[in-house]
Amino acid sequence: MTADHARFATRAVHAARTRDSAAARATPIYLTAGFEFDDFDHAADHFGTGAGFGYTRTGNPTVRAVERQIAALESGADALLVASGQAAVVTALLTVAGAGDHIVSSTHIYEGSRGLFLDNLSRLGIETTFVDDIADPDAWRAAIRPNTRALFAESIANARNDILDIAVVSAVADESAIPLIVDNTLATPFLVRPLEHGAAIVVHSASKFLAGHGSVLGGVIVDDGRFDPAVAGHNAPHLVLPGRNGEPSVAARHGGNARIAYARESVAPRFGASPSPLNAFLIGQGVETLGLRVERQSRNAQAVAEWLSEHPEVERVDYAGLPTHPDHATAARYLQGGFGSIFTVTLRGGLPAARDFVESVGVFIHMTHIGDVRSLVLHPGTTSHSHRTEDERLALGVHPGTLRLSIGIEDIDDLIADLSRVLETVREVVA
Ligand SMILES: *Cc1c(COP(=O)(O)O)cnc(C)c1O
Repeated sequence: MTADHARFATRAVHAARTRDSAAARATPIYLTAGFEFDDFDHAADHFGTGAGFGYTRTGNPTVRAVERQIAALESGADALLVASGQAAVVTALLTVAGAGDHIVSSTHIYEGSRGLFLDNLSRLGIETTFVDDIADPDAWRAAIRPNTRALFAESIANARNDILDIAVVSAVADESAIPLIVDNTLATPFLVRPLEHGAAIVVHSASKFLAGHGSVLGGVIVDDGRFDPAVAGHNAPHLVLPGRNGEPSVAARHGGNARIAYARESVAPRFGASPSPLNAFLIGQGVETLGLRVERQSRNAQAVAEWLSEHPEVERVDYAGLPTHPDHATAARYLQGGFGSIFTVTLRGGLPAARDFVESVGVFIHMTHIGDVRSLVLHPGTTSHSHRTEDERLALGVHPGTLRLSIGIEDIDDLIADLSRVLETVREVVA
């Protein structure tokens, strides 16, 4: 129908209706719940094959553009954008594991991921074994069981800045024909692309560096597209067996991309953590400047870490960019163009010094976030890691005087001046 001759209430909702033909330079924000079908057959075809766009929970052009952008930067075959980093971790794991299955994870992971393994996946019948010494391939190998469906680790971990030897752990995963899933949030694809070193799946909290400006949440799963039914099919019956109504298997329809296709068709839209197209746009725009920001943030972080490590109020700095860090050589081998910008500093004055530090900062912002263009500080011992026992905290490198810093893109002189002033106050308070 044409809206021109319709009455007021009809014109209000139909008069602006367009079918997009303008060639926008920027990715248009398709802020729409769904898409009009061309005709009867188009609708049937969309439901039959999943091709094209029908409803934003199952696909959206703005979201798709960002998926292609991030897949290209991670050297992946395809990517899937979801509503948060936590949703990315859940979706990746439920793509490879189900009830009765088992996962082996690094101990040195985001507390939210650890809670997911221990509290949520456990209730779905998915058990997790944690590996502490992630540099030792035998430790990983020893934890693998016949029902293990994935290895999980972070490329750069918080709080100790442990660096994953991706090639070594990937090789262990390959021996059992299971994927290594790497959370690459802290490193970003600017510093390292785990799929180039043998990992099968990368996940990110796009809320951090990818979006970059601390304004939106998002998450992404990137797959290497190298799923081989002949090699790994026995570990993934849901990908190689015919569908519930006898349809061809996911692997038959999508080949090497079976995992990400299953995540896109069956996991993400069913569990429902769909990204907003507006958030997708902001993530895509953030990704355009990712390299510039991470390069600058890493340079600033290196300077801050070196400066702090010389300061009399500072007991230790756990930054992989410092030659004194136990994983410095591994970091130097994997990370190109910098050592990242998230690390911890432990103050000699313990808890009182840490309290005074977070309450005195001026340029730094006291909040729970990382990867922002602004420099941020948090006291993990009383926040993110407060539910851990004292012994667990110490083993993870979270001491009473430990602060987590996320270094931004500010002028380095202003960052050092802020820290210098703050540490002067800390010295007076603690003395
Ligand atoms: C923040 C974070 C997550 C969770 O991401 P959200 O976007 O906050 O849901 C997962 N992994 C790491 C390493 C993170 O830093």
